Amino acid sequence: MVFRVRLPALLALPLMLAGCVFGGGGEEDRPQQRIRPRAGGPVTVRRPATADTLQCHAELAQAGVRFTPLPDQDFGSGCLVEGAVRLDDYGLPTSGLKAIRCPLAQRFVAWTRYAVQPAARIVYGQAVVRIETYGTFSCRGIVGNGPAASGRVSQHGLANAIDIAGFTLSDGRRVTLTDGWNSQDERDRRFLRLIHESACKRFTTVLSPDYNAAHYNHFHFDMSGRGFCR
Ligand SMILES: [Zn+2]
Repeated sequence: MVFRVRLPALLALPLMLAGCVFGGGGEEDRPQQRIRPRAGGPVTVRRPATADTLQCHAELAQAGVRFTPLPDQDFGSGCLVEGAVRLDDYGLPTSGLKAIRCPLAQRFVAWTRYAVQPAARIVYGQAVVRIETYGTFSCRGIVGNGPAASGRVSQHGLANAIDIAGFTLSDGRRVTLTDGWNSQDERDRRFLRLIHESACKRFTTVLSPDYNAAHYNHFHFDMSGRGFCR
């Protein structure tokens, strides 16, 4: 798909992207800028769910998803979980899920049903029976040494991002981002690229192993930005 991005916006993109922390060299040099949950634990923000959140809950329920609405919580350092749910059962066992903002949960479920499963059937003639993730909510900063990393909270700190690590097919075959993205087996490459392409139509930021070294082992999807697919 084509993204129309004006040049100034393009230059700003690395600053806007909500990266994932797997390592993150250089951050130790700036302890004062580290983002972490406050020691005393999160503060629950008691307020009624917004109309958008209630609408999202209704749509999730209509889609046959079992979920638990979570209270809004402020973890400090800008980490704030608002309008999140816990996915209890959406039809596919998935590891690593924690709090996830409802609109992201909706898109994630739709992606597994209408992109991941069809792609697995086309490419392998099988269903996906399990998804592995590196999680959703995590109070942390954006990876790296640049200005973007200077104290900016990751979309994970807002429960607005999910990292996808791999899939298990019905015959037990495991397809991971680490081994599959540039696999010798053409089917793995095709499957992962098909579902990546579909993700770019569903999530507003999509990062693959092609984006940078920090993403060699997962897809990062989040609902920030206006359409970045790499
Ligand atoms: Zn991520």
